[in-house]
Amino acid sequence: MKLKYIDLDQKNIVILGSTGSIGEQALEIVREHPEQFKVLALTCNSSWQKLAKQVEEFNPKYALLCDKESAMTLEHRPEVSDTEILAGNDDLLHLASLDEADVILNSLVGFAGFEPTIEALKAGKKVALANKESLVVGGGLINKLIKDRRDQLVPVDSEHSAILQCLVGESQERIEKLVITASGGPFRTWTKEQMRDITVEDALDHPNWSMGAKITIDSATMMNKGLEIIEAHWLFDMPLSRIEAVVHPQSVIHSIVTFTDGSSKAQLGPPTMKVPILYALTYPDRYKLDAPQLDWQTAFDLTFEPVDYDRFLCIRLAIEAAEEGGLAPAILNAANEVAVDRFLNKEIMYIDIPRIIDSCLQTLSNTEKISLESLKNIDHKARKLASTI
Ligand code: NAD
Ligand code: MG
Repeated sequence: MKLKYIDLDQKNIVILGSTGSIGEQALEIVREHPEQFKVLALTCNSSWQKLAKQVEEFNPKYALLCDKESAMTLEHRPEVSDTEILAGNDDLLHLASLDEADVILNSLVGFAGFEPTIEALKAGKKVALANKESLVVGGGLINKLIKDRRDQLVPVDSEHSAILQCLVGESQERIEKLVITASGGPFRTWTKEQMRDITVEDALDHPNWSMGAKITIDSATMMNKGLEIIEAHWLFDMPLSRIEAVVHPQSVIHSIVTFTDGSSKAQLGPPTMKVPILYALTYPDRYKLDAPQLDWQTAFDLTFEPVDYDRFLCIRLAIEAAEEGGLAPAILNAANEVAVDRFLNKEIMYIDIPRIIDSCLQTLSNTEKISLESLKNIDHKARKLASTI
């Protein structure tokens, strides 16, 4: 593959989910490279105060709140007078496919990010994808859409960015396997007995990364690694049998590719999402980044442990759903979103999360053909069921 390095023209960027953890870090990158990136649109769900501040600083042409009441409040604020304020899901899809946009950063969380990914790709946009749930629920559909234009979709997830970086200059046929590293989360060393009493506060206390609430809980249950295996399966066209996860508590190696000659390449760096976010925006080029670097003159250890599928049932459920295929990953995803939400609201226990997901997977039928409509339908059904069991 011959790589084309990008020109230095300013890129118009749309950030979906700009008030979240990834969105805010993306704006830090724009702040550092104002000559390279111009913010065209910012969106969030309902946090209008945060969005108002972002609009005041970055002066985008459009800003959107999914919540219509919050959008009305924002519209009357003096600091947003030069920006067109939009509201609701239809306008979100419009912003995901804006004519003037060069790149869409999808940093929405959950199934809400799926349709915007589809719209952006359909419109031929380059998508920097943080919203892994898009690929989990509809990876097959997405790959069909971009059959001849695979570089339209660039991952932001650090493990997938690491794999992408390892694959530069390599050919698909020479890949033996993908090895996705996992920190193991806050409960890596807890016994099954201890895990019965996990509180929300325990689960939100991630050892290495500071992230949004949903992915933090997904990391604590290791569902996140299951979702990432499915994400890698679609992104890199790899059979599930050739993707494995390994626990690497230091989170310095972000993932590994082993080739057919037995050689492995890994990508390393301190745990900051700014590196993969910037790489997704500039791939296959690299820009300078004001971020910490590894200090090779200080002694440190890199260690590895196998995943304990007996204590972390969610990763096992994710792999099984991926193997089953069809609508099963969409059922898993919806049930997980609801269970995580219920856990965060202290309605259920940590150990109920895999129980609810398993029960949804057992109960709901997975026979319909995959389409946007059938995925939306099953998402709706699984949410309904997961909120009552
Ligand atoms: P977050 O919760 O911090 O932010 C989510 C953003 O989406 C916010 O701007 C919020 O307003 C918006 N949003 C939430 N629900 C919405 C809805 N229903 N409709 C429209 N907008 C909505 O999440 P995050 O941690 O930034 O994660 C975003 C995505 O990136 C997730 O898919 C996550 O798995 C992935 N990711 C995050 C990290 C990380 O370090 N945070 C790392 C890798 C991948
Ligand atoms: Mg990740």
